[in-house]
Amino acid sequence: MAFPTAFLDELTARNPIEEVVGQYVSLSRKGSNLFGLCPFHSEKTGSFSVQPEKGIYYCFGCHKGGGVIQFAMEIENLDFPDAVRWLAKRAGMEVPEDNTRREGYHRQERLRELCREAARFFHAQLSTDGAKAAREYLAKRQVSGAIVKRFGLGFSPNAWTGLIDAMKAKGYNEQELLTAGLAVRHPTKGTIYDRFRNRLMFPIIDVRGNVIGFGGRVLDDSTPKYLNSSETPIFNKRKNLFALNYAKKTKEEMLILTEGYMDAISLHQFGFDCAVASLGTALTEEHANLLSKYTQKVILTYDGDEAGQNATRRAAPILEKAGLSVRILKMQGAKDPDEFLKKYGPDAFRGLLNNSENRAQYLLGAMQRKYDLTQDDQKVAFLKEAASFLAGLPNAVERELYTIRAAEAAGISPTALKTEVEKNFRRRRAEQKKREEKKNLEVANSRQPDERALRYANLRSAVAEEGLLRLLLREPELFTQVQLTPEHFSVPLFGRVFAIWRTQFEQGRSVGIAALGESFAREEIAHLSGVIQKEQTLVSETALKDYVGVIREEYEKTQVSAEDRLRQAHERMREKHYGG
Ligand SMILES: [Zn+2]
Repeated sequence: MAFPTAFLDELTARNPIEEVVGQYVSLSRKGSNLFGLCPFHSEKTGSFSVQPEKGIYYCFGCHKGGGVIQFAMEIENLDFPDAVRWLAKRAGMEVPEDNTRREGYHRQERLRELCREAARFFHAQLSTDGAKAAREYLAKRQVSGAIVKRFGLGFSPNAWTGLIDAMKAKGYNEQELLTAGLAVRHPTKGTIYDRFRNRLMFPIIDVRGNVIGFGGRVLDDSTPKYLNSSETPIFNKRKNLFALNYAKKTKEEMLILTEGYMDAISLHQFGFDCAVASLGTALTEEHANLLSKYTQKVILTYDGDEAGQNATRRAAPILEKAGLSVRILKMQGAKDPDEFLKKYGPDAFRGLLNNSENRAQYLLGAMQRKYDLTQDDQKVAFLKEAASFLAGLPNAVERELYTIRAAEAAGISPTALKTEVEKNFRRRRAEQKKREEKKNLEVANSRQPDERALRYANLRSAVAEEGLLRLLLREPELFTQVQLTPEHFSVPLFGRVFAIWRTQFEQGRSVGIAALGESFAREEIAHLSGVIQKEQTLVSETALKDYVGVIREEYEKTQVSAEDRLRQAHERMREKHYGG
């Protein structure tokens, strides 16, 4: 069940978008709009706009957009209901929770409480007799008592119902333990047992400080070595990073991304409070977006083995796409940061950080190691691959610099390689130009939404629909003159928006993004914001008539062709039956 729209209206009215955004972004006025540096992607000139009159924000760089609720969702990493609660609290309003919603919220609260209780239980277990192996392991890894406390490390006893019994005594039931991913049901017996047994426990804490899950490391030879909580209503490993709750407060200009809990913990212990770890999964776009909220620079410190190198190659472009500058740590004399820190100390590690490579350096290095450069044929193959790679670097200085480095590595004169790189570069540029020209020819394409799923099937109608929505947003009383139904719209998204706004208008409520509630995907809201942030310059009456005319015309065409298709099908069938 959704929040009542009247409530959402008031919520948005009492949380002016320029005020809420202003808490995060310094805005300056240009005409009736406000501009600032986008908080969602890294940039030097402000392409992030706020239009207080329309109650929307829109970034011309990364195309994020929406109303004040979407802004709260995006910036505070909240889902829709939590963003509403957050804004309500900000404005001192009471949230009308309906029963299902209240129950859902209550259930999640219970899960969070349960996970917190479980973390307390595991932590207390660490000082019991049964946890000797866990304590020995921590001592061997030189994890300090302060760090054990700070990260709330714990121990899951070597028993089938240790945690279950303790949590039941606190009033939690079997279903809650299963849902929280802390217990597993036996497939044949039907009883439940502890998911984590005889493991060193790492609580996973979200950026708001809630315990949402656990990672457990074995203390003997059993497998798997690391076990994570399963996905639960409160835990999604694609969206959370270990230790980010601490790292987000760092004074360092960067965040360090490690492969495992122990690396991250070790870095914190040695004073690098900016380390985070992904939770036994490859880095996702969600992770990258999350990181970009707290920093502009990420240093990858994955292991030197092949798996780690592959992970690095995969992660770097994902981070760059989120607007982050990426550096890659070149591990020397140790297999991972943990081992390095213990061998050489934090100062040496700081040196490694300062010498970390960018992606070009890193990839070129990897390419170099692939070939035996004492052999002529291998040298030629290396230079060929290097020239093609170097030509792809968009920055001229980088291109020049790494061309010299590659030539030096192969022991040839830079001039020869430079010529080759430039040739490759010109060819690439020519190809690109051709592609762009082709794209420009299809003028229509330029008005298409970026989001593939939202591409317009009928551009002529879609453009009219865009204009109509802009017009209706500005002058809702025009709804009385529009004789259209949602089916007339060629873009289903616009049809849905039209229907909701019309109902709002008929009920005397305000028309805008807030009225759309949570039944729209983020990409849909962002696209809609992009559409309505545009200036509506045409005079209302003529524009209205034109837009409605085009939408009707295009709609009727589809009806005719549908009729045609039906008739043709009939004819074909008749021919088949009666032999023509
Ligand atoms: Zn942006």
